[in-house]
Amino acid sequence: MIPNTNYNQLTESYLFSEIAKRAAEYSKANPEKEVIKMGIGDVTLPLCKAVIEAMKQAVEDLAVAETFHGYGPEQGYDFLREKIKNYYAENGVELDLNEIFISDGAKSDIGNILDILGKDNTVLIPDPVYPVYVDTNIMDGRNIIYADANENNGFLPMPDYNIKADIIYICSPNNPTGAVYNKEQLEKWIEYANKNNSLILFDAAYEAFVSDKEIPRSIFQIDGAETCSVEICSLSKTAGFTGTRCGYTVIPNKLIFNNMSLNKLWLRRQTTKFNGVSYIVQKGAEAVFTAEGRKQISENIDYYRLNAKIITETLDEIGISYCGGINSPYIWLKCPYEMTSWEFFDRLLFSAGVIGTPGAGFGKNGDRYFRLTAFSSHDKTEKAMLRLKEFVVNKFK
Ligand code: PLP
Repeated sequence: MIPNTNYNQLTESYLFSEIAKRAAEYSKANPEKEVIKMGIGDVTLPLCKAVIEAMKQAVEDLAVAETFHGYGPEQGYDFLREKIKNYYAENGVELDLNEIFISDGAKSDIGNILDILGKDNTVLIPDPVYPVYVDTNIMDGRNIIYADANENNGFLPMPDYNIKADIIYICSPNNPTGAVYNKEQLEKWIEYANKNNSLILFDAAYEAFVSDKEIPRSIFQIDGAETCSVEICSLSKTAGFTGTRCGYTVIPNKLIFNNMSLNKLWLRRQTTKFNGVSYIVQKGAEAVFTAEGRKQISENIDYYRLNAKIITETLDEIGISYCGGINSPYIWLKCPYEMTSWEFFDRLLFSAGVIGTPGAGFGKNGDRYFRLTAFSSHDKTEKAMLRLKEFVVNKFK
């Protein structure tokens, strides 16, 4: 037996363990000091009432023979797919029900979609990036090339016709940079993909944070996307499903490569390897899309938006440049005084007791950047920003 030796090519991710280690050292040396975590990528507000009620009812359904549900359809229940179809229609995107696949979250689908894509494809991944795109392709041994996301391009790399990429990852709103592509920029990517017979994997996990009407929430709002794009989405950040687990992937029927339908391949893959998301979770997810659910989740998102505003206003005040925070829960700031991201991490922790995420953990272009998130409480965000302000203004000037 020979294991998958591609796993030898993976670099160990020390990012979050190293952060935890340094934070523990600090707390040990300063037991009286409260540490404020501003690096968390998990939500902190509970599931909304509409979701909880729907899930309670779903449990009751399972208690009675007449309403009991065993194995469900692998691609998800129609009651949820209908809701998602209507949600897309609000933005002018008409989907067939069979183009929507319910999943247990975006991370699974980001990894699993590679099952239906050949291993000889060249993959284009932005740097910095959500590390899952890189690692899942290394596991399969695919050739990876990187598209630099930096200050010069507003952290939004654009297509380069000198480079032939078969699979292209786009995440907008972006983790970690908070940058968002506008319609014209996405049109350029779609034009490139259609001309080069490439596939775009569009990660829309943060679409719910888009508040600007001009910014697309879905790649399918752009003409031509249906012949070159798959969209992967999640209720994790939209509705606090990080622990509950539910997402969806849209694979258009028009997505044909080498006379093979990616929709059919994915259906075949899912019906073979996946037995669906639980009825209880899908009922909770359905409630997200009801009028009541929509109102409640938007209150939660507004709560996080206010945190983002507290952060960006502080950065504006002290003259630190950043990307994101609008249409996104992430704020990607430039480390002041030419510090590297780990230097800034240490100084912010030891001087202010505030923890963020060093940009170096997301790729080489993140080395001088730092990620803050809007997922904490108002109180903690305000306190952390006061401390940051004091630290930057007093300690360095
Ligand atoms: N895509 C991006 C860009 C993310 O940041 C995350 C989670 O942080 C995911 C996907 C995973 O989402 P899920 O919780 O649905 O697996």
